[in-house]
Amino acid sequence: MGCDGGTIPKRHELVKGPKKVEQVDKNAALAARWNYCAISQRPLRKPIVACELGRLYNKDAVIEYLLDTSPEKCIIVTATHIKNLKDVKQLNLTDNPTWKGDKANTKGDKYEDLQRAAFICPVVGLEMNGRQKFCYLHACGCVFSERAMKEIKTEVCHKCGESFNEDDVIVLNGSKEEMADLQRKMEERKLKAKLLKKARKSKTTETVVKSALTEAKSSSTSTASGKACKLASGITKRSHTETGEKSEAYKSIFTSHSSAKRAREEKPNWITHTAYYY
Ligand SMILES: [Zn+2]
Repeated sequence: MGCDGGTIPKRHELVKGPKKVEQVDKNAALAARWNYCAISQRPLRKPIVACELGRLYNKDAVIEYLLDTSPEKCIIVTATHIKNLKDVKQLNLTDNPTWKGDKANTKGDKYEDLQRAAFICPVVGLEMNGRQKFCYLHACGCVFSERAMKEIKTEVCHKCGESFNEDDVIVLNGSKEEMADLQRKMEERKLKAKLLKKARKSKTTETVVKSALTEAKSSSTSTASGKACKLASGITKRSHTETGEKSEAYKSIFTSHSSAKRAREEKPNWITHTAYYY
């Protein structure tokens, strides 16, 4: 600092400001997103699933998370949109033939190459290490590099041949903007599914009502309708007599009924009859 040469120290030279947040190594952060489950934070192992926002999970971790109904369950903010297994898609990944797995580096004496990845793009052979954009198709779950999707324009899946449209392409671990776009698409898809369900439901009830109506029409025109009418009238008659019997029994509860009157006449007159007695 000195100050001997007549220099006047400025505030920022004397007061230390807040420490700059250490920038997390970009490569390590990327590797974490591509190699670890977004729920359990354990290394990704097949079967691997992806949500409609393009995050990667171990399937068993998702199942465990969904089944956990205990009050101590820690809610993972990044997984709140996963309500059931239908909200994730099992990925059809292509193994990297040169991948030796984590076992090759158990001693820790080798340089861990973050560029190596367990899976590759089946079309152009790029490794899925987070440096290249990858996406999956919502319809079939097959995973490709974005380069393959752009270079070879197609309307059917490169791997399994299932048809898809542009909205079916979901970017894996995309940028903020891509995530926002995926969120919008997910909401649209859910709304569509809801409307379709509603339409199907109303259609089935309509058909039920229609078939009932046509049945009624055909029976009224047929000769059997007369018989049916007779049968119906018989039923109503019987029900009438039944109600008659019932009403007779019902009436006998009251003192004004003939049976009650008879009973009173037969009894000696020193017994006081209270209203409760009858
Ligand atoms: Zn496919």
